[in-house]
Amino acid sequence: MTSEPAPVETPAREPRLTVVSGPAGVGKGTVVAHLRSEHPDVFVSVSATTRPPRPGEVDGEHYLFVSEEEFDELIDTDALLEWARVHGAARYGTPNAPVLAALATGREAILEIDLQGARQIRDTCPQARFVFLAPPSWEELVRRLAGRGTETPEQRERRLLTAKGEMNSMAEFDHVIVNSEVGQAVDELVGLLGL
Ligand code: 5GP
Repeated sequence: MTSEPAPVETPAREPRLTVVSGPAGVGKGTVVAHLRSEHPDVFVSVSATTRPPRPGEVDGEHYLFVSEEEFDELIDTDALLEWARVHGAARYGTPNAPVLAALATGREAILEIDLQGARQIRDTCPQARFVFLAPPSWEELVRRLAGRGTETPEQRERRLLTAKGEMNSMAEFDHVIVNSEVGQAVDELVGLLGL
């Protein structure tokens, strides 16, 4: 007697939270923006920040630009998944409701956040995937930070100092992607997300 082989069940893949971090100036924003335009189904978190908008930045699209009082309120009402003061200046945080809603509806979700935030997510959400975006070299990172031209020399100096510490944290991450060329970095990230 022959029996029918049992049907192979392919379980629906659980969507995961992916944290993309790395030093200031490495190009996290650019890589994530490219990924979003190639894969609009992926949810990319919009952070709240107390820093003022740069020219061309749109409220609700690049960031939710909030006052110090509004940011305090977000903290007090447990509305943030993580938050940090970055470069000793403004505060940045991830609103939790949109991220949880995206994951609940089966979408992959990405946070592009600094190292302090990544460490908080590591504590609260250890099942997340942690990706470190690295520059091809330290010299290249310094060149990119100088090239942005939106900061004062003092702000740039502070960013370089933060970046130095952040480069030393690479080993804490599950994956390292070297951002030598945006297209290739995006492809690697797409591969990690299994898209
Ligand atoms: P920028 O002011 O240049 O847009 O961002 C400065 C830094 O803040 C970047 O390293 C960026 O990854 C980080 N950042 C942006 N949003 C968040 C957030 O929600 N949480 C944390 N911890 N860092 C963030």
